[in-house]
Amino acid sequence: MNMQFYMPTRIISGSGCVRANSAALAALGKRALIVTGAHSARANGSLADVTAALDAEDVEWSLYDKVMSNPTIPCVYEGAAIARAEQADFVIAIGGGSPMDAGKAIALLAAQDVPEEKLFTGPFEHKILPMALIPTTAGTGSEVTQYSILTNDAAKTKTSIASPLLFPNLAFLDARYTASLSPATTVNTAVDALCHCVESRLSVQADLMSAMIAEEGIRLIASRFGALKAGTFTPEDREILLCGSTLGGIAIAQTGTTVVHCMGYGLTYFRHIDHGRANGLLLAAFLDFLWKKSPALVAPVLAPMGFSTLEPLKEILSSLLGTRETFTEAELAGYAADAIKLKKISSSVVVPTQAELLDMYRASLL
Ligand code: NAP
Ligand code: FE
Repeated sequence: MNMQFYMPTRIISGSGCVRANSAALAALGKRALIVTGAHSARANGSLADVTAALDAEDVEWSLYDKVMSNPTIPCVYEGAAIARAEQADFVIAIGGGSPMDAGKAIALLAAQDVPEEKLFTGPFEHKILPMALIPTTAGTGSEVTQYSILTNDAAKTKTSIASPLLFPNLAFLDARYTASLSPATTVNTAVDALCHCVESRLSVQADLMSAMIAEEGIRLIASRFGALKAGTFTPEDREILLCGSTLGGIAIAQTGTTVVHCMGYGLTYFRHIDHGRANGLLLAAFLDFLWKKSPALVAPVLAPMGFSTLEPLKEILSSLLGTRETFTEAELAGYAADAIKLKKISSSVVVPTQAELLDMYRASLL
């Protein structure tokens, strides 16, 4: 049996885990740069827990709180310049995928000079600041992946820096931080995590380990479809969704994402549709495309949801995502032409043509 599994991040999970494990943070260095978005880390208690843990260990820290959604290249170079100026020797990134991805790129760029034209390709020296990541959305799984996804204006899409260097040293999962998420962001991020699990399971890179993890991620997230539809969440729902999201991250760390993410990037880049929502709008059409090739292809992702056909999932996604944005045929043709160029598409169990991508966009969005 051919198998490879690599996920070197130490995961510590549970209510209060940051303050309770301050020594694990202090082991990463003597001076931290904390990377966050503008508001949420202050509001949900995560920043206060991190600074209390650092203060308790006499670790100095400074804050870069300028990461926007879908972080840009100038943002990560600015963060790295601040890390250098502050002589930070490790990075703590707190937030959704945006601050976590930015924190990973900042840790890389603070440790070595990488010209902008080499940012997505490398090669990189074997140097990066140690990192601790703390998710406050339950969606991206960035805390356990080797990817940092940035807005790439030159290519008019979003592009990953992908390197084993980018695996964080530590991930703290405390679902209390996700309690302040609005129902809409909770849905969008949960749908992103579901897409990670589904695309990973339906990748030619999948193997026994990644498949097992992806299927469990699907099962956990699907077990909360009711809460996602109702828009109200118990602490246990929050924990299960966060765990499902981290499992999705571990799965895509092995396989990458495929068709849905490649198609979603155009919606986010050109129309500023939230990353998870963009994927969710396209998921049913991708599964339908595979179903029409052979229903057996889709069974491994439907079974953990407790479904044997696509209809119940289509109905749940429609109800979660509500009214769809409107698009023109010309916009969709442009997105299909861009998406077909992305290498990750070729890992899908069935690789669509550009015409088939356009059909999926039409089925989802016209
Ligand atoms: P996000 O862009 O990080 O955050 C979206 C919004 O949610 C922001 O306004 C943020 O506010 C707010 N927010 C975050 N946590 C909150 C909380 N606990 N309570 C209330 N509001 C909160 O969204 P995301 O969906 O988590 O991340 C999307 C990014 O991750 C995209 O760039 C995507 O490409 C990337 N991604 C990366 C990977 C990977 O493997 N690395 C995988 C999938 C997606 P603040 O700005 O104030 O914090
Ligand atoms: Fe994603």
